[in-house]
Amino acid sequence: MPIPSAVPPRVLTVAGSDSGGGAGIQADLKTMLAFGTHGMSVLTAVTAQNSLGVQGAWELPADAVRAQYRSVVDDIGVSAVKTGMLSSTLLVETVAALLAGTDAPVVVDPVGVSKHGDPLLAAEALDSVRTKLLPVATVATPNLDEVAQLTGITVTDEAGMRQAADTLLGYGPRWVVVKGGHLPGEPVDLLTDGTEEHWLRAPRHDNRHTHGTGCTLASAIACGLALGQDVPTAVRAAKTYVTGAIMAGFPLGSGIGPVDHVW
Ligand code: PLP
Repeated sequence: MPIPSAVPPRVLTVAGSDSGGGAGIQADLKTMLAFGTHGMSVLTAVTAQNSLGVQGAWELPADAVRAQYRSVVDDIGVSAVKTGMLSSTLLVETVAALLAGTDAPVVVDPVGVSKHGDPLLAAEALDSVRTKLLPVATVATPNLDEVAQLTGITVTDEAGMRQAADTLLGYGPRWVVVKGGHLPGEPVDLLTDGTEEHWLRAPRHDNRHTHGTGCTLASAIACGLALGQDVPTAVRAAKTYVTGAIMAGFPLGSGIGPVDHVW
């Protein structure tokens, strides 16, 4: 009989499935494994997806989301939670209500649209993200498209990133990471809680196979928090992890391949 080892931190992703294995739940669980944590999943939606885009998406009933969450939390417990694709107002509000009752840190990736332009959240759900989901977030990790959707601010430079971060913090997350990777030049992210400001820079890697970057970053942050790191330490380590994952991204299918978790 194998001797049971110590219980690893338990990290929960509440997100959608990517059948192609590059983003969503699949990226989250790979990241959680890489960080030495125990990954668990509450599925919100199933997508038919590959390297060319999302061919179909089906949301799960709110009852199914609630039941999965209760099964995990009531028996196993969670050290940190990450949310991704939530699809609709109903699921945003369902998940926000569940997370309002947890003491575990919550990383919210306010997923809006995929890199191929496929909608992963209904436009009318943005208001619930602002008013219900962001207030329960320990860290929110929007990219600049999501920033524009949530705040109406079109960011073109670092001053704009700071302004957007202030607006986002006004919705209630403790920390925000504004991901500036879509701006020209060397990519920079801004992590702030309104008091501390951390500008995280990394050289740009010329690899188009970046599917799953956002999911991976948010999951890696949740892993760091589950391991007991403070937010700036967890975000820096997550950024380092994602940089490696992007460098190792590989072609798959005939479109955009995924970041890799083993390198
Ligand atoms: N599919 C699912 C289920 C996702 O959760 C996400 C992002 O969060 C994506 C696709 C989009 O991934 P990307 O924009 O990296 O292609």
